Amino acid sequence: MLCPECKKSDTKVLDSRDDNRLIRRRRECLRCKYRFTTYEKIEPPKIKVIKRTGLGQDYSREKLSRGIYLACEKRPLSINQIEQIIDSIEHDITKLKTRFITSKQIGKFAIDHLKISDEVAYLRFLSVYKSFSSASKFQKEAEKLTRKDFI
Ligand SMILES: [Zn+2]
Repeated sequence: MLCPECKKSDTKVLDSRDDNRLIRRRRECLRCKYRFTTYEKIEPPKIKVIKRTGLGQDYSREKLSRGIYLACEKRPLSINQIEQIIDSIEHDITKLKTRFITSKQIGKFAIDHLKISDEVAYLRFLSVYKSFSSASKFQKEAEKLTRKDFI
């Protein structure tokens, strides 16, 4: 990124922080030492999810969220904390820099992040993940459970 002051030199990142779906970066010009802040929106990964059946579909944050919210139900986690877990999973997906990912791999990322956030949510997700061995089946099961709650 070019320096907005001298418009010549490249800048270095001094500090980077994820803050509510925005990445805030403090930058410094390598030449004139001008300091400024940039904000980058975290974009959902543009990636195809390959199901166990072999079929692919566009990645959907909503689908991932359903499973995570269900695992976190009645746990002492704020919506903000849960959204941060989902952000972290999306960040891992984006880091792969690939156009395809298996639903199983997304499930593994979810397990990693739930493990460090809440033990009960982690165990819930893990048990369902293991018995269904694919995130897509977990979502179907999650939907059934949600429906049952409303009857
Ligand atoms: Zn400069």
